[in-house]
Amino acid sequence: MTSNEIRNRFIQYFERQGHLHLPSSSLVPENDPTLLFTNAGMVQFKGVFVGEQERPAERAVTSQKCLRVSGKHNDLEEVGRTARHHTFFEMLGNFSFGDYFKRDAIRFAWEFVTEELGLEPDRLWATVHHTDDDAAALWPQLTAIPPERVLRLGDKDNFWQMGDSGPCGPCSEIHYDMRPDEERGRRLGPEEFEALGEADEFMEIWNLVFMQYNRGPDGDTPLPSPSIDTGAGLERIAAILQGTRTNYHTDLFLPIIRRAEEIMGIPYSTAPEDWDAGLPFRVLADHARAVAFMLADGVFPSNEGRGYVLRRILRRAGRYAWLLGRREPTLDRLVGVVIDLMGDSYPELKARRTLIERTTRAEEERFLATIEAGMDRFDEVAPEGGSGTISGNEAFKLYDTFGFPIDLTELMAAERGYGVDLEGFEEALQAQRQRSRDMSGGIGSSLLGSGSGPSEEVLQVARTVSADEEQEFVGYEQLRVETRVVEQTSLDGMRAFLLASNPFYAEAGGQVSDSGFLRGEGWELAVESVVRNDRGQTVLVGEPTHGEVPEAPGEVLAVVDEHARRDTERNHTATHLLHAALRAVLGEHVHQKGSLVAPDRLRFDFNHHGPLTAGERDEIEKRVNQAIWANTPLEIAHRPYREALDDGAMALFGEKYGDVVRTVSVPGVSLELCGGCHVRSTGQIGLFRIVSETGVAAGVRRLEAVTGPRAYARLLDTEKLVSDLAERLRVPPAELPRRVSALLEERDALEGSLAEQRGADAEDVANRLVQEAQPLDGGRARLVRASIELPAGSDVAEFGDRLRAGLGSGAAVVHVHTDDGKDSIVAVVTDDWIGRGLKAGDLVRTASRATGSGGGGKPHFAQGGVGDRSRIEAALEAAAEAARAGAATGE
Ligand code: ATP
Ligand code: MG
Repeated sequence: MTSNEIRNRFIQYFERQGHLHLPSSSLVPENDPTLLFTNAGMVQFKGVFVGEQERPAERAVTSQKCLRVSGKHNDLEEVGRTARHHTFFEMLGNFSFGDYFKRDAIRFAWEFVTEELGLEPDRLWATVHHTDDDAAALWPQLTAIPPERVLRLGDKDNFWQMGDSGPCGPCSEIHYDMRPDEERGRRLGPEEFEALGEADEFMEIWNLVFMQYNRGPDGDTPLPSPSIDTGAGLERIAAILQGTRTNYHTDLFLPIIRRAEEIMGIPYSTAPEDWDAGLPFRVLADHARAVAFMLADGVFPSNEGRGYVLRRILRRAGRYAWLLGRREPTLDRLVGVVIDLMGDSYPELKARRTLIERTTRAEEERFLATIEAGMDRFDEVAPEGGSGTISGNEAFKLYDTFGFPIDLTELMAAERGYGVDLEGFEEALQAQRQRSRDMSGGIGSSLLGSGSGPSEEVLQVARTVSADEEQEFVGYEQLRVETRVVEQTSLDGMRAFLLASNPFYAEAGGQVSDSGFLRGEGWELAVESVVRNDRGQTVLVGEPTHGEVPEAPGEVLAVVDEHARRDTERNHTATHLLHAALRAVLGEHVHQKGSLVAPDRLRFDFNHHGPLTAGERDEIEKRVNQAIWANTPLEIAHRPYREALDDGAMALFGEKYGDVVRTVSVPGVSLELCGGCHVRSTGQIGLFRIVSETGVAAGVRRLEAVTGPRAYARLLDTEKLVSDLAERLRVPPAELPRRVSALLEERDALEGSLAEQRGADAEDVANRLVQEAQPLDGGRARLVRASIELPAGSDVAEFGDRLRAGLGSGAAVVHVHTDDGKDSIVAVVTDDWIGRGLKAGDLVRTASRATGSGGGGKPHFAQGGVGDRSRIEAALEAAAEAARAGAATGE
């Protein structure tokens, strides 16, 4: 079963059980300062569980993007070492918001894994929290797991919490036993069970959390109503169903690993004995997924917070590639494979393909340049063929001067048989931090030697630059001014300036800051950050690009990057038009929940109950474009706040406004309070295209769109895609739909004849069995008792139906051996005999138990495992005997 199919089956199964299918939320949690990244399916429902948010439905099902690289759940160091841990993974989950509780959660999970996925009941184990007697009793009662396969474990394994605060509760997990037959069947204590789990002999696949408490600073308080939150790892289920024993060899990972092989020119072996040697490949594949999804969700490499985590993952991957001998970017190609594999399920990947690939490449190039520059020094410190320890000071110099992260130094040193004095390094680092604090009153050195842009510390200091005289913002009209530096400071190789007249826009209201440069006599400085001080004055921070910047620069020329700014203006005005169009098409309930206006795109979050229909989306896009083609001049004014509101201006909830406000109006279409930069006339926007529409939280949707040059570039890309496809399929573009339909039909026909062939085989076998049946109930009915062979992949349920039809009246117990070496026991009972109390489930249970295995199912059809094969004959006879006895008592 492919992983796409598993994902779909999960969602469809729970939809059939009355669950609402909701989209995955972003990896970046909405409005949750306690959490860096979404680490479980429940994160988007945190507010619902604690009763702060309305529930979207009574039951929901999701496939959630998760990242476990920080905080309470951090699996970074496990990646590639264990068979089952990733940084990024997909969590399948069903949720009950005060609706069903333990009993149904267990029942659903059991039915899904045994009937939908067909996992052998015999290989499944359950764990419960040691205090949870209910759950411990429910498993044997509702499923085929006997009490001795239900283990009671402590808080570490069976009490779930998202982080140090938030919803939590005892949980119960389903584990899959991967040991060979001869090692199974023994009772296990909790310690032995956990040790086998660590050794990847057991695979935890699904955690059912019984949400009961909210953890806060003062301990746990009960939730308004007990709820259910479950999480099953898609990659782990795929590993089991695809028989690979490790997630890394499933269809989700192997194509990425294969591409890495190609790029490196080094083979990767899936043989168990080559596991250790393959580690770098698995790390690369894992990190490629994490990087692609983080970039797709708007995280960018930087020196703090989420961006820093992304940078570390990128460099970690770069380091492994480097150690394999690679001296050029690698991951930038692997992210492409991730997009190909998963872009259909997660369209945000496709929408940002260029950005994802380019950002990855740029970051890798920077990292490689760093290593290159420091290599000579490293060779001196740790010459090849030598041995010993790299001192703390030397490691620090590599870090401080050449930008070698300490873990890189460690890895490279280990490669050459050296150790590293980590304590000494830490001391040197602290000493340096102290020195720079003493020197400049609070400025530390940038944390990463080769980071981009000013560090958070530099920006903090820049914000302290201020002046008594008024500063004038001229950036609405002018992008280039000659002006005077009023105040300045230098910090950590950077400079910060406060200008008398400032044309640079500082990030506000969703619109990002401008970039550009300052020029004086014989020097130039690139403006990298635009920050605001406490007085609301704008301070420009940047690095000299040439010449010597004097202590007191006096007159300067300040220039904003015009291309970027014009693109930003297009996106900003388009955001207003979009807001208006949304309200016109979807209704007046639509309000802005957040927005981002950058040169390359715009993003608009708004409240709405569900996904937009294709029709609504088209209508919205059309309205915005019509407003553009009308080429209406904008009207911008300053007026009293009350008056603006009375005219119907849209103000943002929760924003503070002064007495006099700035209004931006596209007459007849939109009127908003806004301090941002806009086009003069709507026609300048050129073109507007919606790129994606997704849900970001319960009741909040996100639209992303592009305008002007970007929209045009996308059209060209699409056109190229179509012509490439046409070329591959060797038809003119207009013929594509017909050609693709023909190919699909051909495939369906092939699949059909294959199924028919299999069906015919099964039918032959079923007919033969019926002819050889024994009489039952004095000849009024028939009983089949047989062992048969079927091709692997046969539809056993359909085979059961044929048997039932052939029998007319009676029952069958059959040992099925498939040509891939699997054994099972199948039983069927016709409806009239079900009415008389004979059940297929009972027959299978009798037979399977007699072989030391288990099974069960519905009254008309059931299936079970085979333990000891030498007992199959006796087992079939026992079941046949039970059927005869049932026939006798039924009379
Ligand atoms: P483990 O003990 O194996 O690390 P866990 O107890 O941390 O798992 P949960 O927090 O209960 O896992 O998450 C629910 C499910 O998500 C797990 O049952 C598993 O299928 C999956 N899962 C958890 N962590 C990872 C990971 N790092 N990579 C892939 N799948 C994971
Ligand atoms: Mg874990």
